[in-house]
Amino acid sequence: MTMHVTELFGSKVFNDKVMKERLPKETYKALKKTIEDGEELKLDVANVVAHAMKDWAIEQGATHFTHWFQPMTGVTAEKHDSFIQPEDGGKVIMSFSGKELVKGEPDASSFPSGGLRATFEARGYTAWDPTSYAFIKDDSLCIPTAFCSYSGEALDKKTPLLRSMQALDKQAVRILKLFGNEDVKRVITTVGPEQEYFLIDSEMYNKRPDLIYTGRTLFGAKPPKGQELDDHYFGSLKPRVSAFMKELDEELWKLGVLAKTKHNEVAPAQHELAPVFSTTNVATDHNQLTMEMMKIVAQRHGMTCLLHEKPFAGVNGSGKHNNWSLSTDTGMNLLEPGATPSQNAQFILFLTAVIKAVDEYQELLRISVASAGNDHRLGANEAPPAIISMFLGDELEAIVESIIDGTDYVDKKKKLMSIGATVLPPIPQDTTDRNRTSPFAFTGNKFEFRSLGSAASISGPNIVLNTIVAEELDKFATELEKAKDFDKALNKLVKRELTAHRRIIFNGNGYSEDWLVEAKKRGLANLKTTVDALPHFINKKSVDVFTKHKVFTKGELESRYDIELEKYAKVLDIEALTMVSMAKKDIMAAACDYETILSETINAKKSTGVKLSTKVEEKKLVSASELTEKLDSGIEKLEKDIAKSKTITDCLKLASFHKDTIVEDMAELREVIDALEVLVPADVWPFPTYGEILYSVK
Ligand code: ADP
Ligand code: MG
Repeated sequence: MTMHVTELFGSKVFNDKVMKERLPKETYKALKKTIEDGEELKLDVANVVAHAMKDWAIEQGATHFTHWFQPMTGVTAEKHDSFIQPEDGGKVIMSFSGKELVKGEPDASSFPSGGLRATFEARGYTAWDPTSYAFIKDDSLCIPTAFCSYSGEALDKKTPLLRSMQALDKQAVRILKLFGNEDVKRVITTVGPEQEYFLIDSEMYNKRPDLIYTGRTLFGAKPPKGQELDDHYFGSLKPRVSAFMKELDEELWKLGVLAKTKHNEVAPAQHELAPVFSTTNVATDHNQLTMEMMKIVAQRHGMTCLLHEKPFAGVNGSGKHNNWSLSTDTGMNLLEPGATPSQNAQFILFLTAVIKAVDEYQELLRISVASAGNDHRLGANEAPPAIISMFLGDELEAIVESIIDGTDYVDKKKKLMSIGATVLPPIPQDTTDRNRTSPFAFTGNKFEFRSLGSAASISGPNIVLNTIVAEELDKFATELEKAKDFDKALNKLVKRELTAHRRIIFNGNGYSEDWLVEAKKRGLANLKTTVDALPHFINKKSVDVFTKHKVFTKGELESRYDIELEKYAKVLDIEALTMVSMAKKDIMAAACDYETILSETINAKKSTGVKLSTKVEEKKLVSASELTEKLDSGIEKLEKDIAKSKTITDCLKLASFHKDTIVEDMAELREVIDALEVLVPADVWPFPTYGEILYSVK
């Protein structure tokens, strides 16, 4: 590396330092006010900012600009315009106006809108999110934006995220005032997403249409060695992987992404990258950039990065841990147990709000991580179960128990535990082993939501988290603001709510069968698949909470529900069609070839006139023939059901049909194909095997 990391970091970002250097003082101040207080950006200010941004971008080699946004597809979208503007004499100048900076109008008719935007008014618009810095990627100035319809409905993943952050800010500040924190002006949510991924050799990737079309393998027999020995986790990095990670870090640092930790994960060919946490919307933008860069940099190294939640059956899939906390503009982490009794009382109240929120809105949290790909992980003993529960650690749980029971936590002989500002004992930092099987774990000064799939944007889960916690803080604030005796009212509230929502706390093994039974007894939701979960998104309780805090309108919720159901069905449809195509052509041909080889061997042996045994060949031929027949009928059944699915028009019915029928058909067909793969010789088998793919990067 020629440049120091400190110089490299943020070198492609129009960040605060650049703004300060390049903007007139007044403009800088006005922009800062917009960024920090959410004040509207005036056009004359925008013009000055745009001009400075353009000059800076051109110096960096940029020729184009794009509004960079996050439509409901889950990947980022960009449409590049060059800075050129024609001049007399056949010349051009480079120009970029304030109007172009703050607002874009992509023809948006091809983005999913769930019926929100009638096609006759196909235009949506993108609006700059000045709280996320502009940056340069591939010679384009990228401006992070939100994407809305002309009537103001959100068509993207960023707008509701920003709304949810505002909702939480408002309610958390109310609570803080009650505890005498008059200096706090703003509360932000912070997120650090740990990102898992696979790296395989591109030569292998290019030979697997299933990876190309669906991101995962649709069949493949277990290799002799998987993750049994646990020798990959934190293992030393292979040179190619190490070179990739170094370059990835550099690219991310240039973009101002705080890439921090990298290591090998549990499965062969699996790795992880974790950044230092940042404000939720920035963390979301940066996570999208991280995923994009992973793919680009892998290609430069002759590798392909797989971000699918379950690329290979039988070895761990990839997830994303969403570390989440709340902090004030004065630098206080609200989920950090404090040093004084008053701080601790405040901590306990925020903790109670999170506990209540997670219990009350389990279904929404489950939905926020639901996708066809993640259905393969949740509840499959490699990721948390589909049941949402919380892990607090031994010490914090003991404190919660003692509040509920009214017993003393430190010493049974002393007074009863009370959460007034005077009597609460110091809360020790969490020292217990982390429970990896829990979907939602307290880890010392933050919560870690572990059910996220690797491919999805983190905006969904954070929209839900921010909104449901805002709702509980709102209720708490309303109750406590009326209280005559604050300490007494606080005590009563905390005890009441912890008692009511104790059932969501579970410190045991989330992978065990016992937990399924116990969770059912406790009345916790167990929504096994995306299709089971999604309908809860539009029930009254969900609509009420989202509309109350102005995060989603009813129309936006309904449209998102349709989009997600449709997406699920489309993913399954593509998977099924890919499977049919691979099975019908290449795998059937391989099976028939093998039968021919065996028949010919048997005939050849017989025709020698020497008395030779053909027992082995015959046995194999019988197996191959039986499996080939099953292959044929399996393909036929899947094809028939695909055709049937085309007659279903209702979104929910179609998704349900895919879940119940297509998924089953594919599983049955896969079993036959995997058995064939084991039987058929390697030189006849048309696709690279799991062993070849998973150990392809040397
Ligand atoms: P783990 O043992 O799960 O790897 P770490 O302590 O390394 O846990 O942290 C994982 C992630 O949590 C990192 O991305 C880190 O930046 C993030 N994190 C730490 N503190 C906070 C916080 N207050 N808010 C949000 N994320 C945080
Ligand atoms: Mg973690």
